[in-house]
Amino acid sequence: MKQIGIILLIALPIIANAQDITKSKKESAMKFNELNAFEKSVIEGKGTERPFTGIYYKHDEKGTYVCKKCNEPLYRSADKFDAHCGWPSFDDEIKGAVKKTVDADGRRTEITCAKCGAHLGHVFVGEGFTSKNTRHCVNSVSLNFLPELKK
Ligand SMILES: [Zn+2]
Repeated sequence: MKQIGIILLIALPIIANAQDITKSKKESAMKFNELNAFEKSVIEGKGTERPFTGIYYKHDEKGTYVCKKCNEPLYRSADKFDAHCGWPSFDDEIKGAVKKTVDADGRRTEITCAKCGAHLGHVFVGEGFTSKNTRHCVNSVSLNFLPELKK
């Protein structure tokens, strides 16, 4: 039994390391869109665009909102609602597309693109805006919009 324990102790870091290597290879192979200085300050610098200034705040076309940096589909127009807060608001994300991380001070929960880590905004729960009781407050500048194809 003791030997198995020792073997595991040696093998586990090797396995973990191998996973890290595959992950970084995958990331470097990923093609990102070029970002301008303002987009970088929000998406990579975790900044916030001024309220009521983003192009998708009052935007109600049918379609899909994708990550500005990696084009991953993040939100559907069907989940968008007007929270009168000055930023595009969604009460749900495309399953698995958005990563949630509690800020260091524990007060707010940051949302990022699960694929490339682009900063999107913050998510708030318990405000009662919609039946899902969730508001993803997203910077327009972190998104691109793909209109639904007309049949
Ligand atoms: Zn992304």
